Amino acid sequence: MIGTEQRVAIFEGQLKQAGLRMTQQRRLILRILAEAHDHPDAKGIFTRAFEHDPTLSLSTVYRTMKLLESQGAIERHAFEDGVSRYEHADQQHHDHLIDVETGQVVEFSSPEIEALQAKIAAELGYEIVRHRLELYARKLPKAGRKRVKKDV
Ligand SMILES: [Zn+2]
Repeated sequence: MIGTEQRVAIFEGQLKQAGLRMTQQRRLILRILAEAHDHPDAKGIFTRAFEHDPTLSLSTVYRTMKLLESQGAIERHAFEDGVSRYEHADQQHHDHLIDVETGQVVEFSSPEIEALQAKIAAELGYEIVRHRLELYARKLPKAGRKRVKKDV
């Protein structure tokens, strides 16, 4: 697992490589992103960053996110609600379950699903390059809930 400081350093390196000056505001956005574990959207990142720097604008956040995405530092998810959400790209592969009532994003990974996907692709004469799996779900009442291993 990569720590926050390390991740900020990686983000900084990637922005510098893209020829960008490291400003105080960009650094703040990077830090908030590096600390986030909940797939925030740009507005969510802005709200968190704004607490530390009220001169920050939403468009600076959008620009920085775009740059980081183009550098492969963060991954953008376009879930069904149409809002782009972000997470750092240096994690192990995982899929997402989206709670349709609360919008909460739950991460999971399943070796069975991975294997099944590879098998299906192979049967069709393909090998998987990447995939995205999104489950849109509603929470069960407590009694009917199964134990699922979350890997966050
Ligand atoms: Zn995720």
